[in-house]
Amino acid sequence: MKTLMPINNYPPARSDWQKNRIKAAEIKKYLNQGNSFIDATTITQNLENTRNPDRVMVEDILQKSLEIETLSPFETACLLNVQEPELWERMAETAGAVKRKVYDNRIVTFAPLYLGNKCVNDCAYCGFRRSNHTIQRKILNQEQIRREIEVLVGKIGHKRLILVYGEHPETDVDYIADSIKTIAQVKVKTRKGGTTGIRRCNINAAPMQAAELAKLHQAGIGTYQVFQETYHLPTYEKLHPPGTLKGDYLWRLYCMHRAFEAGIDDVGIGVLFGLYDWRFEVMCLLQHALELENKFGIGPHTVSFPRLEPAANTSFIDNTSHKINDENFKKLVTVIRLAIPYTGMILTARESATTRMEILPLGCTQTDASSNIGIGGYADLFEGQQAERQQFILGDTRSLDTVVRQIAEAGYITSFCTAGYRCGRTGSNIMGMLRSGREGRFCKLNAVITFREWLDDFATEETRKIGEKLIAQEIQEIQEKLPEFYNQFVKYYDDTNNGKRDLYF
Ligand code: SAM
Ligand code: SF4
Repeated sequence: MKTLMPINNYPPARSDWQKNRIKAAEIKKYLNQGNSFIDATTITQNLENTRNPDRVMVEDILQKSLEIETLSPFETACLLNVQEPELWERMAETAGAVKRKVYDNRIVTFAPLYLGNKCVNDCAYCGFRRSNHTIQRKILNQEQIRREIEVLVGKIGHKRLILVYGEHPETDVDYIADSIKTIAQVKVKTRKGGTTGIRRCNINAAPMQAAELAKLHQAGIGTYQVFQETYHLPTYEKLHPPGTLKGDYLWRLYCMHRAFEAGIDDVGIGVLFGLYDWRFEVMCLLQHALELENKFGIGPHTVSFPRLEPAANTSFIDNTSHKINDENFKKLVTVIRLAIPYTGMILTARESATTRMEILPLGCTQTDASSNIGIGGYADLFEGQQAERQQFILGDTRSLDTVVRQIAEAGYITSFCTAGYRCGRTGSNIMGMLRSGREGRFCKLNAVITFREWLDDFATEETRKIGEKLIAQEIQEIQEKLPEFYNQFVKYYDDTNNGKRDLYF
């Protein structure tokens, strides 16, 4: 039996602003005979019917991942049920190989910027929930946003942000659009005399109506990211009280459908791991990706897999029975990479530095650094204050310079590339390029050029030295493996060396 959806209850009683937010018609139109695409019964059956898969079958599945084909639910369930440690090692190696085939050895970096922590919802695990009266509430005004960007761009050297918002009338779609405009206007002088700024703003905000999403598209957002938190309906309903906006499972589940219809073709899905059984959640992420592929021809641009972290005055986190240990965390990252081989995978600073260095080789493509999740936290820190408005507690507070250096020592090049969406390589245009490995060529070329920029503008001497060695190897590889791009690459590289900024393929 498929999961039956409570579509007759829209909208539940709410305050004025909240009352008209959920549009039942913008859910119902996507349902399949009243059912959602999350078929809990079949998922559970798949997980039960694939116990102890044999090695030959697993090898065949890995081959399919290496051909950058999305796995079926049955194949994914097989991988999730592997028992032998040796076979897990083999899967981890393959996950790394899949990532290199699609994205080369680059890791894109970004910073989170929290713009407000007022929220009408009451999620049991989140420090921003409305019933948490112990935190200071704040929403940045446009001048305060500008100050944050001056630090992020001018002092740290970021080019790409994920903007994070609570769900609240003061941070509605117009506020979000205004904040993007403000951010785009901030330009900062670099060491070499040019100017630089934020080149891509991704958004992590509540599910919205199609008309609002069209506004965000017009405002020029990058990826629109919403995590389902848990796809398991009974758990979802327990953790998100009825009558709150977030309490509506289907409104959230179908927000990416509305985003595609509104013209946004870069979407990011995710699970907050630690709320329910991790194997079930990985199966649902795959189901979500397949649904988007089938309906729109475009899978998720990114998948996120945050693990539950401690938050101020939030006892739920100590009491959940689904906490994910490090071993299972590695497994779930490995299987997501193998099951949805083309997708970007985001590893955040929620994890400790040590864990991040272990998880990165399993196929991650993006990571944040120098992160601060206090509201106004970047400018505060540079003015010597500690922000006390955090949503949860970060595990890794290494500076961007340190992260760049340490991942360079491990053989990865940090990329500040934001070219893809500016060149129209998004949505259906990019799906074929990712699957065929053609996008990886642009990843490499743009990674080297943007890395050159960053080393010149922001790196410490120690990091610059290590970075130079890596760049020398990368240039040699470009000459050998991408001869058709080499001349143009050398021109862009030399121009960048001479102070030109923002050149890309
Ligand atoms: N309010 C919007 C929403 O809920 O979709 C977007 C912002 S919310 C601040 C971003 C994400 O933070 C949530 O989707 C959730 O997955 C994550 N989060 C919340 N509490 C967390 C915790 N204690 N540890 C780790 N991540 C958490
Ligand atoms: Fe609000 Fe998002 Fe936190 Fe829930 S997770 S309380 S919606 S900020």
